[in-house]
Amino acid sequence: MNCLDYRRALLAGTGEADAMRVHRLQCAGCTAEWQEHAAFEGALRQALEVPVPEGFAERMTTVPVARRRRFLAAAATTLVAVGAGSYAWLARQDPLALACIDFVMKEEAKSIMMGAMPRAEARVALAGTLPVEVLEGVGQVRHISPCPFNGATAYHVVLAVPQGKVTLLVMPSAPMRGVRHADKEGMHAAVVATKNGSVGIVGADAAVVMSVAGAFQAYAATRSA
Ligand SMILES: [Zn+2]
Repeated sequence: MNCLDYRRALLAGTGEADAMRVHRLQCAGCTAEWQEHAAFEGALRQALEVPVPEGFAERMTTVPVARRRRFLAAAATTLVAVGAGSYAWLARQDPLALACIDFVMKEEAKSIMMGAMPRAEARVALAGTLPVEVLEGVGQVRHISPCPFNGATAYHVVLAVPQGKVTLLVMPSAPMRGVRHADKEGMHAAVVATKNGSVGIVGADAAVVMSVAGAFQAYAATRSA
């Protein structure tokens, strides 16, 4: 086992096997990485333990079900529409989409360590771009915090969807048209327009990224119609 193998295995999150422990015990760099990873996991767990707002459970069991269904139906339609252009994704690496992937690889852990913003504050901050209720209609919001990104303040969101986890970068001051894509080191990113801004979606599964992107596009379309 070398350092690269160790760090890849660590990020895969399957726990530390014996061969990994043997390497760590004789490698200062991987020991530091391991400690940071443990701190990150702890911070993520804390982020998950945010107090549940009043009426949240009720909303989760009633309204969002219909809303989620609507989003998923809209997402499926959008996917078909996007399908014809999907080869462009493979051919073109958009710089902003690549920056979103870089954020996840280099900054996400730090952003989570810094702590989430109060949910009430997040609702106000995102209301004009991509309301928290819309995010909640697509998945479970696990973390929201402001962060410097692409020369402005973006909102970093960790969203758990049934098929896994995606990271969002909500950019209130970056309006755009169309869809931008990038692929890098097993990560996929799409950037789509929202109301008055845009949102980058990053995940390990391209189909999941596209379906979340489709849901947000559907939201943007209903708002401007
Ligand atoms: Zn090492």
